[in-house]
Amino acid sequence: MKKKIDDEIVKVEQELTGESVVSGWGLGKAYFVGRAVQQQETSAVNISREAVGGEIIRFNEIRDRARRDYRKLIQDLDSESTVDSSILNVYEHILDDPAFIGQVVETISAKLFDLETSIRMVSNDFIKRFDSAGTAYLKERSSDMVEVCEKLVSYLHNEDGRAKTFAEPVVLIVLRTFTPSDILAYDRSKISAVITVSGGKTSHAAILARSYNIPVISGVRNISDHIAPNDEVLVDADKGTVFVHPSAAVVSEYHKKTHGEEIYRELKSKWNRPVYTRDGIRIEVLANISLPEDAEEAVLNGADGIGLVRTEYLLSNRKDMPPEEAHMAYYESILSKGRGKHTTIRLMDIGGDKIPQFFDMPQEFNPFMGWRAIRIFLERKEIFETQVAAILKAGKGHDYSIMVPMVTTLQEWMEAKAFIREVAAKVGIPMPKCGVLFEVPLATLEINMFMKEIDFASIGTNDLIQYLSAADRNNSKVNYLYNPVEPAFLRIIRNAIKIANDNGKPLSICGEMAGHPLHTVLLIGLGLRRFSVIPRSVPLIKEIIANISFAEAAESISHIDVIESMDEMLEWLKNLNLRLLGDVLKRIPYIESSV
Ligand code: PEP
Ligand code: MG
Repeated sequence: MKKKIDDEIVKVEQELTGESVVSGWGLGKAYFVGRAVQQQETSAVNISREAVGGEIIRFNEIRDRARRDYRKLIQDLDSESTVDSSILNVYEHILDDPAFIGQVVETISAKLFDLETSIRMVSNDFIKRFDSAGTAYLKERSSDMVEVCEKLVSYLHNEDGRAKTFAEPVVLIVLRTFTPSDILAYDRSKISAVITVSGGKTSHAAILARSYNIPVISGVRNISDHIAPNDEVLVDADKGTVFVHPSAAVVSEYHKKTHGEEIYRELKSKWNRPVYTRDGIRIEVLANISLPEDAEEAVLNGADGIGLVRTEYLLSNRKDMPPEEAHMAYYESILSKGRGKHTTIRLMDIGGDKIPQFFDMPQEFNPFMGWRAIRIFLERKEIFETQVAAILKAGKGHDYSIMVPMVTTLQEWMEAKAFIREVAAKVGIPMPKCGVLFEVPLATLEINMFMKEIDFASIGTNDLIQYLSAADRNNSKVNYLYNPVEPAFLRIIRNAIKIANDNGKPLSICGEMAGHPLHTVLLIGLGLRRFSVIPRSVPLIKEIIANISFAEAAESISHIDVIESMDEMLEWLKNLNLRLLGDVLKRIPYIESSV
């Protein structure tokens, strides 16, 4: 909101509210991603006259690419599809519209703006005209224009594999569901916070943001009515508040906040060693990572090993499926940065919300329930052969194992394992230890069937909760059902942990649940001896473990059998934490506002 006083524009502070997804504070200039711009001055990038020709060629290339992708989408829609393929024809029509093409070319060549700025400006002009046209038909064309603009710009962001940089800190504004590439496409050292319309706490984008200590707020309404590009924005994700044009007082309060950094640093230097409960039980705290540099962070934070490498991130920002050498370089880098600690490499979990831009993925209406991870692996073995061979070769002389995501049936697992064995024989390398990520209810409920056939297990609570409660992990609207401390859910994982312990198979939990300080007592009580969490959480979880008695926690846990409701469970958990940990949790930073 702007007030005009004596010809001077005064920007008035406004407060917006949302839900905390990743806690912390951040201050920066608003930068809108994934949507046509609203104002001409937005993030405009100028180019030299010599660069004009190149930008126009790129424009034609990405229009061709979008046309091909839309055509493919039309082909993939089967006859029973509920999507009207004529909508895709409208997109094609926009791509070939002489007015649209002409204006973008003119903006590049006459105004010397780069391709992205030009596409956004021209799209924005069209959108404004459609929006003010008054007829429902033309208003709909406005959202078509947004779609086409987004599509074209997305190719530019992922084109060269390099992160987009900013001169000063930004608050990313995502006017749709928040996705991992919203973080990976940019220089993340400059992203001070994210404001998004929708996205749950365990969405892959939120997990990445949490790993990189970027606060996130979701569910903020009518963002573009209140925030314009380049506005100064302060995000307090602990409270779920966004300050637009924050006053000097609010900014100075923010600067005083330490984000618990001092305590974090103290614990980080303390916990570069193994942790035991008060009664002497060794508990391992491993790290979840995505990129090679995260392995360094894991070691610096005192992780006892790496419990999950999300290898699909090797594919982000790539134009093509990486050859074996690229895979090998990625694993070699992770394994050497991991300094000899055991590393569990998960085969690519593609599908769901992680679809590589080059992958010929059919249009799905329920992607998390669709063609994902091992389901793609078993059908497209050639892709996974490259990955498995590269892991085996890079793993020579290192302590590592392979984990397979999204296994539903024992039969699938046997087929996957046989294939890994076949590849190992082909490259002449002994079969490594292999295990299953239990994240599909059917497999988890029948975990006993797998015991003889696996070397280790991990529970992926992020997916397991969404499948058990039929609540999309990316959708903040159903967050209330997506609950790791739901009594029935706890009983299910207690059973899985017990079966693995009884069979002498190591079992970890690598979902976000394991990294939440309020859950540590609970999980120890359930018998868990291996946690896998984001690197920054390792010292925090170790500090809590050192203050817990394994026997006391185990004794208390039988109480979950008599708890019926969530509210009762939360109350009980609060008291349990207080009784067994006293004031320890009060010192632990980064506790999100709700469980
Ligand atoms: C999980 O589902 O808990 C898990 C660890 O895998 P991801 O979050 O990558 O789906
Ligand atoms: Mg998962």
